[in-house]
Amino acid sequence: MIDTHAHIYTEKYADDRDTIIQRAFEQGVQKILMPNIDLASIEGMLSLEERYPTQCFSMMGLHPCYVKEDYQDQLAVITSNFEERSFIAVGEIGLDFYWDKTFEKQQYDAFEQQLRLARKYKLPVAIHMRDSIDQTLEVLADFKDVTGVLHCFSGNLEQANKAIDYGFLLGIGGVVTFKKSTLPQVIQEIPLSSMLLETDSPYLAPTPKRGKVNEPAFLSFIAEKIAVIKQVDVSVVIGETSKNAKQLFQLD
Ligand SMILES: [Zn+2]
Repeated sequence: MIDTHAHIYTEKYADDRDTIIQRAFEQGVQKILMPNIDLASIEGMLSLEERYPTQCFSMMGLHPCYVKEDYQDQLAVITSNFEERSFIAVGEIGLDFYWDKTFEKQQYDAFEQQLRLARKYKLPVAIHMRDSIDQTLEVLADFKDVTGVLHCFSGNLEQANKAIDYGFLLGIGGVVTFKKSTLPQVIQEIPLSSMLLETDSPYLAPTPKRGKVNEPAFLSFIAEKIAVIKQVDVSVVIGETSKNAKQLFQLD
């Protein structure tokens, strides 16, 4: 399995980071993809990649919740990182209108600037959206040459089909295991070739770990849930989604 979205560099794991990563490997997670958040998260992320060079891979980007007054300065640093070395993706980027709309205009600008980075470096993007699926899809309509993943997808079938039509994959995480989730109905209708597995650790732990600090080892609960929904063996879900991840992020 490949966990395509995990913030394993976060302070939350300060005391047991290596244990958590080893546990993930033991549970069949072979690779962990790390989306960046802001300038403060870069150093920890890159040192983790250095420690696990064949298993942990970095993305580079500015998360929409961290777009504030100084976003242009932050983006300048993000951009210079791409000049220095290669990353597997631009991420995570996007629009979040759930917590705060103060910087709505700046969020759009940061999102578009980073989509242009993806275009320039021919990289996929990892997109975060919250209360903003339609707005995000509207922006992506102008970037049809850019592909990537809609991380933590929780939209309806129409939105899913539009994203797939734009060449995007859907990142499926713990939400699919929640009792009241409508995601299973959507997943029934879309092919495994359009899905990626992700935990979004340390957030959104899947049932039966809901409410706990999430970790990549819990990815199997998500794969198992998708297997039940699609009525296939879990090995099929793992095989297909791993293939998708390797293709999108150009992993070996
Ligand atoms: Zn994230």
